[in-house]
Amino acid sequence: MPVRFLTALLAALAFLPALPAAAETPEPPDRIAAAWRTDHLFVDERLRAAIPATEVDRIRTAMRTAAVPVYVAITPRTPALQKIRYDLPTLLHARVGAPGLYVVAVVDGDYWSTNAELYRQAGLRGRDLTSVRGDDKRRLDIVSDRPAPQIVRTIQQASTAFDGRALPAVPAGDLEPERPRRGLSVTDKSDRAVYVGLGVGGLLGLALTLVIGLRRRGGSKRTHEGRPTDAPAVDTHRVELRADGKITQAERALARLDRRRNKTTQQLDRRDDAYRRLDAARALRADTTDDVLAAAGALVLARQAERIASGAALEPPCFFDPTHAPGTAKVDWSDEVEVPACQPCASAVRRRKTPRGLQVPARSGLLGHDRKQVPYWTLDPEDNPMVATGFGALSDDLAERITARKDEVR
Ligand SMILES: [Zn+2]
Repeated sequence: MPVRFLTALLAALAFLPALPAAAETPEPPDRIAAAWRTDHLFVDERLRAAIPATEVDRIRTAMRTAAVPVYVAITPRTPALQKIRYDLPTLLHARVGAPGLYVVAVVDGDYWSTNAELYRQAGLRGRDLTSVRGDDKRRLDIVSDRPAPQIVRTIQQASTAFDGRALPAVPAGDLEPERPRRGLSVTDKSDRAVYVGLGVGGLLGLALTLVIGLRRRGGSKRTHEGRPTDAPAVDTHRVELRADGKITQAERALARLDRRRNKTTQQLDRRDDAYRRLDAARALRADTTDDVLAAAGALVLARQAERIASGAALEPPCFFDPTHAPGTAKVDWSDEVEVPACQPCASAVRRRKTPRGLQVPARSGLLGHDRKQVPYWTLDPEDNPMVATGFGALSDDLAERITARKDEVR
């Protein structure tokens, strides 16, 4: 990335905490929706000086040539935004009401991440944006140090989803430098086989060993390894709401699959796999109250059930925090262990930092609810299947473990 751009960006971001609280009012979705009335490309004023005109021009060109109306918001990560970032495209569509592609690009440090939803008028044909993204083999190789490459790609994917046009090649300048792939095959299909194979191929004990190894791994190289923090607790209720929303989506996807006649063997397998995960997700939501581990486990399993029922490739969760975007990147966590991670966590690990991770109460106090928050992977894996499997990131047998545990209780 051009050094000057990064410097300007970091300077702009460093300034953020000094802004008065009033800068966050009105609520981000309202501000963005209001700005879109005059220009469908919204760039937060705090970033305007930092983003080169060439980046903005590329995005505008892509918006003009898209098959659908496109709404783009470019914004820094703020506390107010953080809570709703995954829901922003939905919240924005609710305010604007028009069909189209809603793209939100958020920058945190020098890392850009992009969320998007495609809303079309009922009855129109076309593919699901998620499935187009899933088939786009280069999507994970696109650079994240500036906004345009991801936004432009998302717009191209939406156009393909909408009218079936071919996805153009990604310009070489938008791709990360080639990294050697280790141990994983090239196609999604065989990726999935490898990933599933890890769970069912007689390696069930391995996950437990891995987690114990991870917990004890020396922290000298990385920052705040497993140390309790005074960070605010995760909002369990929010995770529960997201899990319930995903469960509903998975149920709908499964109902669609069920309605199909003459299902192929592959579709029948998908149906069984999706039901297994959905049942485990429901069991997690039914059994416990105010347990962020159970809520996050339900979210992961329901998300996977929905994808599998829709015909998309299975995705492992981000090992560090399963409420993050799926673990579409792979990073070396300890010397021998490679874990799936979302792009921001992967980028942190590559910078030799420990991602903050899903924070849970340490429960070290006699009363059970210690206020101290620790990363979930420092808990005892024997106590909890979510910890033992890294929410399925280390071994894809979380659903089986939940079901087995439920049967034991009966
Ligand atoms: Zn993550």
